[in-house]
Amino acid sequence: MRAALLCAAAELGVGAPGGQPAGDVAFATGPVRCAHGRLRGSLRIVPDSPELPQPPLESVIDHVIESNRQYAQTFPGPRPTPPALHLAVVTCMDSRLDLFGALGLQIGDAHLIRNAGGVVTDDVLRSLAISQRLLGTREIAVIHHTECGMFNFDDVEFRYRLTKESGIEPQWRVPGFTDLELDVRISVDRIKQSLWLEHRNSVRGFIFDVASAEITEISHTSPIQD
Ligand SMILES: [Zn+2]
Repeated sequence: MRAALLCAAAELGVGAPGGQPAGDVAFATGPVRCAHGRLRGSLRIVPDSPELPQPPLESVIDHVIESNRQYAQTFPGPRPTPPALHLAVVTCMDSRLDLFGALGLQIGDAHLIRNAGGVVTDDVLRSLAISQRLLGTREIAVIHHTECGMFNFDDVEFRYRLTKESGIEPQWRVPGFTDLELDVRISVDRIKQSLWLEHRNSVRGFIFDVASAEITEISHTSPIQD
């Protein structure tokens, strides 16, 4: 980080008189190499000024790439494209939901269809139609969860802010909810009513507790009958 900062300063020919480093000041007393290992000259004090181009912070994606290299070394190999358990799961994108661990799934077992809130949008129905008609899934589990960011989410305010800041009105909605169980039942009901899907007899809804990792099944009763 420091070397990269000095590199950026060296390329601009920026320097400062000698003295003690303090506060937002980067310094070096000997030869300086940039992040690429090239010798860039010798600097003593470089003010950390906002006028200087700042190097990018180290990306988390760099760590992800390294993790993938290690993962691939022990990867057992490809699996068939159709999910082995003929299962599709619709759930939230929340980072606390480890579906493989929580549901005992293995690679190649199920389709995992995720978005903000696990909402059954038209795009989710599109994916489910492909999942069933092209890749042979027959059961669907809808899993919403406690502490979801979409709880009490104000779709109108969010869309207004996006429109105001970008000048473009979103053509999609991001519906939130105020009753978690009811939202699960509405989601299950929407799937069951979709005539694009071949298999609608086994569509079940659950709530995942992010504190305990336990899932609780919600009754199949249609919210329309309540
Ligand atoms: Zn969520």
